Amino acid sequence: MVTVRPLIDFKKFDTPDWMRWVVAQHWGDAKAFGRKQYRRECVHGCPPSRGNRILAIDFRVGKFMCHGCGCAGNALTLWAFLMQLPVWYAAVDMCRKRQLPIPFSEPGVIRGDSLRS
Ligand SMILES: [Zn+2]
Ligand SMILES: [Zn+2]
Repeated sequence: MVTVRPLIDFKKFDTPDWMRWVVAQHWGDAKAFGRKQYRRECVHGCPPSRGNRILAIDFRVGKFMCHGCGCAGNALTLWAFLMQLPVWYAAVDMCRKRQLPIPFSEPGVIRGDSLRS
């Protein structure tokens, strides 16, 4: 059976709001909310450096970057790293957990059992 996964507009996750949600869900750090930037250990195990946590999450633009391994991205790619999911499934997972509609970029092409996890 051929399963076609509808395309998702990944740019829709490129927001400060989604980034705050990821930090709150994964680390439960309420103190992070008042900040413009949040720093902590790298999700790939880079050691802290220069007294700062090496992973920098910028809530103003909804992006993260590690100064050690150089990995960078938005709320969606961070969630995919943390949950060890391919990006497409990470997007579906995030929307389900927040009970938000999945931002498909091709409405009407959902087929088969592609949405089952
Ligand atoms: Zn790193
Ligand atoms: Zn990395």
